Amino acid sequence: MKPAAILLLLCLGTTCPLFAHGPGKDSDFAGKRVLFIGVDGCRADALLAAMERGLAPQLKMLCESEHGLFTRKFYAGGELNTPTHQPTVSGPGWSSLLTGVWMDRHGVKNNRFIGGRFQSYSHFMRHIKEVQPQAFCASFADWPPIHDFIADGSRIKDAEFLNVKFTSTPDATRHFVDNPEKDIEVRDAALKTLRESNPDVMFVYFGQVDEYGHGEVDSRANFSPDSTLYLNAISHVDSHIGELLRAMRARLKFTDENWLILITTDHGGQGNKHGGDSDVERKIWLAAHGASLPREKLLNEETPQTALVPLIYRHLGIQPKPEWNPAPPPAENLEQPAK
Ligand SMILES: [Zn+2]
Repeated sequence: MKPAAILLLLCLGTTCPLFAHGPGKDSDFAGKRVLFIGVDGCRADALLAAMERGLAPQLKMLCESEHGLFTRKFYAGGELNTPTHQPTVSGPGWSSLLTGVWMDRHGVKNNRFIGGRFQSYSHFMRHIKEVQPQAFCASFADWPPIHDFIADGSRIKDAEFLNVKFTSTPDATRHFVDNPEKDIEVRDAALKTLRESNPDVMFVYFGQVDEYGHGEVDSRANFSPDSTLYLNAISHVDSHIGELLRAMRARLKFTDENWLILITTDHGGQGNKHGGDSDVERKIWLAAHGASLPREKLLNEETPQTALVPLIYRHLGIQPKPEWNPAPPPAENLEQPAK
């Protein structure tokens, strides 16, 4: 066997630099890339209060820059009085954000993920790999179900579609007091990928804002613009976002690259809880940046959280296949969402 052939064999199934695409425009999507950041349980009016008080300068700057936008016309929880109606909790919420469909399709009713149908309604990165096998997809999270259920549940015959899958697990027995530290681990792993690799698509999830809202990290905090501790958690995540944006802009060929940045949450909350249909739970926000965004539409029209995945496909120039979104199973087989 010739050395070149041996090298080729060694490279199959790995992220061999010979086959990995490069920085700048030298990628499978001609330099188009996506940075999708998830801030769990971040209530819209609290984020706005944080921005107004100078506690979220990075998000504020991004939204106010050219091609940036911030909208509160974004919603979670499905369509009321239809089979898509779902509780405003993380299981159904992140399932919708990462698959682009509501509960009548993805089947996730709560945080136990029983009945999830990710083989039929898959994580969007699996579809990206399907049309572009060389694409570099990376996911970073400190809420393990994001990877254990949504990503792994979407794999075909256990074939991994994530080039990087970084999970940091907070200690539930310690009431998630370590969640802020886990967010730092998530940030650092994502920074490493931005600096050392050429990701086409990244998802970065931060959990501390939700855990503060639940009063887990500190029992005095709650989901409210009046909770200083909750706003401080938003501020911490804002600084992590700032570091990610700095690393992105510091990329060698950043000026050739065309990044779509999407930052959102899965639900709001009130008191120390969420899951219901109140405005402060359902009405969320989207912070975004990118020349390909349908700006007027996002600023003026009520937009469901299922709309993000199509925006990502559109940016990358991917035509979604009909089989990625089959008709939902008969509604009578669905249980009513848990309240
Ligand atoms: Zn929560």
